[in-house]
Amino acid sequence: MARALCGVVALDGPSGTGKTTAARRLATEFGAGYLDTGAMYRVATLAVLRAGIGPDDASAVVELVRRIEIGVGTDPKEPSASLDGVDVSEAIRTEEVNQAVSAVSAVPEVREMLVAEQRRIIRKALDEVGGIVVDGRDIGTVVVPDAPLKVFLTASADVRARRRSAQDAAAGRVSTPEETKASVERRDRLDSTRANSPLRAADDAVLLDTSDLALDEVTAKLTELAEDRGLLCGEVAGTRR
Ligand code: C5P
Repeated sequence: MARALCGVVALDGPSGTGKTTAARRLATEFGAGYLDTGAMYRVATLAVLRAGIGPDDASAVVELVRRIEIGVGTDPKEPSASLDGVDVSEAIRTEEVNQAVSAVSAVPEVREMLVAEQRRIIRKALDEVGGIVVDGRDIGTVVVPDAPLKVFLTASADVRARRRSAQDAAAGRVSTPEETKASVERRDRLDSTRANSPLRAADDAVLLDTSDLALDEVTAKLTELAEDRGLLCGEVAGTRR
């Protein structure tokens, strides 16, 4: 009998810790949905930049984010992001967006709107496929504080910068290791020190340092934790129990 993931797995942590890759693998392996909440903040940021609004102009940012349609797919094999119905999966990964996203995501009304939408997507996935892996910064603390499994991933700044560089190179984006490290560290500092929903581990999160782990090992560890929590349930004729 194939096993399936039942319930919500909340994965938080700074960038370059392997969250996204591990979340997608876990969701794929156990037939669950996958939600990249960072992609939603990135789409909002792209819209802000395209509209010529300064990312620090909170009231203009809020007014714009209210009017746009942010779409994210929940298929872990094919994640997608759209702005007003147009695919922006590539456009949200630029350094320009990296530089502006922390300011946009620090605006409380932006977070309120996006968290409401994230909760709606999570409920829908739970209804439709029974489980979802959610990747972000505040999933265990704010978005799903009652998630049955919360994991906070960490890794040294050097390892995180190396992973980001490798991802950039694979996607054809040019950056030096120094630039990447500075960019990653700056974003983490801003995300950790903002007043509203800062990046931090929930009190009941499992801490996992991935500095010396290969991505397969991170996925294996998450699988083990999900199993321990009883989140891998049987699948019977398309339904879960
Ligand atoms: O995960 P990713 O690196 O794509 O996230 C981009 C940015 O979105 C983060 O640096 C952070 O500013 C913001 N974010 C957030 N809350 C989340 C997910 C991402 O504030 N749950």
